[in-house]
Amino acid sequence: MSTGTTEITPMLQSFLSSPRKILIDGKWGNTLSEHTFPTFNPATGDVLCQVPDGQKEDIDRAVKAARHAFEQGPWRTLTPSERGKRLWRLADLMEQRTEEFAQLESLDNGKPVTVARGADVPLAIDLFRYMAGWATKIEGNTIPISVPYAPGAQFHAYTLREPIGVVGQIIPWNFPLLMATWKLGPALAAGCTIVLKPAEETPLSALLLGELACEAGFPDGVLNIVTGFGETAGAALAAHPDVDKIAFTGSTEVGRSIVHAAAGNLKKVTLELGGKSPMLVLPDADLASAIPGVFNATFFNTGQCCGTGTRLYVESRIFDHVLAGLADQAKQIKLGSGMEPTTDMGPLISENQHQRVLGYMESGLKEGAQAIVGGHRYGDTGYFVEPTVLVNTAQHMKVVQEEIFGPVLCAEPFIDLEEALEKANNSMYGLTAAVWTKDVSQAHRIASRLRAGLVWINCHNIVLDAALPFGGYKQSGWGREMGHEAIDLYTEVKAVCAQL
Ligand code: ADP
Repeated sequence: MSTGTTEITPMLQSFLSSPRKILIDGKWGNTLSEHTFPTFNPATGDVLCQVPDGQKEDIDRAVKAARHAFEQGPWRTLTPSERGKRLWRLADLMEQRTEEFAQLESLDNGKPVTVARGADVPLAIDLFRYMAGWATKIEGNTIPISVPYAPGAQFHAYTLREPIGVVGQIIPWNFPLLMATWKLGPALAAGCTIVLKPAEETPLSALLLGELACEAGFPDGVLNIVTGFGETAGAALAAHPDVDKIAFTGSTEVGRSIVHAAAGNLKKVTLELGGKSPMLVLPDADLASAIPGVFNATFFNTGQCCGTGTRLYVESRIFDHVLAGLADQAKQIKLGSGMEPTTDMGPLISENQHQRVLGYMESGLKEGAQAIVGGHRYGDTGYFVEPTVLVNTAQHMKVVQEEIFGPVLCAEPFIDLEEALEKANNSMYGLTAAVWTKDVSQAHRIASRLRAGLVWINCHNIVLDAALPFGGYKQSGWGREMGHEAIDLYTEVKAVCAQL
C-alpha cells in the first residue's frame, strides 16, 4: 500500500494486514464477542484495519489481570531502579520504531508524518525517559510531631508514597501515542498496574506500543490494553468497582460522566478536559515572532489540541497588521494527506468532527462574525476544512465560548488591557493562555492574572515537554499530567508513626 508519497514500511504493512488483538495479562487475544470495528484514514475515509470491539466483560478480564498483577506485586515490588530501566528500555525500543510510529499516527489520525516524526514520537520517547528517572525518586518525608497529651514521649513519624493500585486510563485521538505515554509513564514509574482504553478513532499506535511493552519486559498483567468505544468499554472502565483510579483525557462533557461513574466506589479521578485558550498581543510585541506564534498556536494539529489558541485579543493599533499577517500565512498553508511530506495541515479526525467544526463556522457567520480567511470545507474527500480567522466576534457568541476543536480563530481588537484580561478570563475553561509583549514585568503581571493552568510568554504550544505540568483551572480538569505532579497523582500517601 502507498499513501501520498510516503512509502509504508514493510513492518507497518504487516502490522496493518494482520488481525489486531487486545492485550490482557501479557497475552494478545480476541474479545469474548470477537466483534470488531474499523479504524479509518481521515484523509481518505478508507478503512485501515479492523480492531477488537471490547465490551464490559473484556474490561472485567483486564481489570482482574491488573488487580492480580498489583496484589502479587511483580511490578511494585521490583526495585525502583529496575522499574526505571524497563521504562527506559521501552523508550529505546520505540526509538528503533520511530518511522512506524510516525506513519501510524499519520495514517490513523491524519496528522502530517513530518510532525509525528519531529514531535509526537520523540516527545513520547522522552516522556518515558523522564518518568524512568522518577521511579527512583518517589520519596516521603520525616515528620516531627508534638502530641501535646504525651509529654516526654518520643516518636518517629514518616510518610511513604505508595502506588495507588489498579488504574484505568482513557485517552483521546488528537495525539494518540503521546496521550498514551502521558498516562502510562507516571503510572508505571509509580508501580501501578493499568488498563488502557485508546480512542476508538485512533487505536493503532497504542497497540504497537503494547507490543513493545511486552518486549521491554513488563510483567504479565501490568499493562493491559482494551480497544473499544467510549459508551461501552470506556464507561465500564470508569464505573468498575475494582479500579482505584481513573485518568481521563477528552471532552468536558464526557469528563462529567466519568466523575459520575467513578462515584460508585469513590475511585480517584484525574481529568484533562477542554480549553478555549486566550492569546493577548500587546502593542510592543515582537510581531515577527508573535504572528507566526499565534498562527501556530491556532492551526497546529489542525486546531485539535486542548491548548489550541482560539481567542485572540490584539491591541487595536496593531490589529489590522497582525490579522493581515495571519491571513497571509493561512493562504500559504498546504492542506493534504498527512503522508504527503509537503503537507502543513492534515484533515480533521472524523466525519462527526468535520460536521461539528463546519457547524460552528456557520453559526459564527450567522451571528455576525466575518471570515477574513477560510470559513469553508476544503476539497471533497476526507475531512478537511480551511484554516479560518473570524473577526467581528463578540463574547456571547458560541464560537467564542465553546470549544470547537478545529482550525478556527476568533480575533478581537482591544483598547483597554483590563477589559482584554476580563474577556480572556471570561470562559468556563482555564487550560492555557499566552501573552506576547517585550515588557518583561508586564508579561509576568499578566501571567499572574490569567486563570489558566499554563501561561506562555512570547511562545505557545511549548506544552508537551515531559517536565512541564499540564492541566487546567476551572472546567478544564482536575490534576496535572507530566512533571512530578503527575507522579504524585499516581501515589497514595501513607503516614507511619512509631513510639520510640
Ligand atoms: P472527543 O469529544 O474529543 O472525541 P471524547 O471525550 O468523546 O472526546 O472521547 C475521549 C475518550 O473518552 C475516548 O477514548 C472515548 O472512547 C472515551 N469515552 C467517550 N465516552 C465515554 C464514556 N461515556 N465513558 C468513558 N469513556 C468515554
